[in-house]
Amino acid sequence: MTQHLQPAAPGLARLERVASAPLPTAHGTFELHVFRSNQPALHGLSNEHLALVMGRVDAGEPVVARVHSECLTSEVFGSLKCDCRGQLERAMAEIARRGRGVILYLRQEGRGIGLANKIRAYALQAQGADTIEANELLHLPVDARQYDLAAEMLRQLGVTSIELMTNNPDKVDAMRRLGVSVEKRIPTLVAANPFSAPYLEVKRRRMQHELPSGMFHAKPTHDSSPPPDVDADADPAPH
Ligand SMILES: [Zn+2]
Repeated sequence: MTQHLQPAAPGLARLERVASAPLPTAHGTFELHVFRSNQPALHGLSNEHLALVMGRVDAGEPVVARVHSECLTSEVFGSLKCDCRGQLERAMAEIARRGRGVILYLRQEGRGIGLANKIRAYALQAQGADTIEANELLHLPVDARQYDLAAEMLRQLGVTSIELMTNNPDKVDAMRRLGVSVEKRIPTLVAANPFSAPYLEVKRRRMQHELPSGMFHAKPTHDSSPPPDVDADADPAPH
């Protein structure tokens, strides 16, 4: 599969594929490509980014794609504060179901502010700030994510058009501005839990994510018992 990769764009050689191997997962076997950017990374972020590919993606037909930004707290530790892990799992399952697709995994933790700043923002959130107010209190951008490396990875993988798995219309616009043909948006709804509900409500209300308001009836609690609806495969919480 790797021999089909396109070379980096001439004069723009700022992203280079440095390793590839098959990766067996609970959803099936993907081909994992590691790309390295020569752009300096801020806030302690890595300059290595990943593409998880299943099936033939360079045949000219639209490819289901997820452009996913790293979230260590949910993906490694199972944090319930956000829906990142659930969305990643959903994307892997959907691609496996279709037998074809690509996940671009960008190392821009905390919407691009890095792990330490993200945890500083969590500390402020524990005192009552919402996700936007916390970043503003830290004099950090609310969303510093960039998608140019995702567009370049798609180009090097030979993907010419995508169906983008996201709830975020701004991400569709951003990819189109980068020259990626986005045929359609596929919603990726993950059930809210009492800890993620306030965050998802801010995403819906202040960041224009296409999320149903019925997801957010749960209120945060300080009960140590597990929240009732953390199953990523569950439907969004009923009204
Ligand atoms: Zn997250």
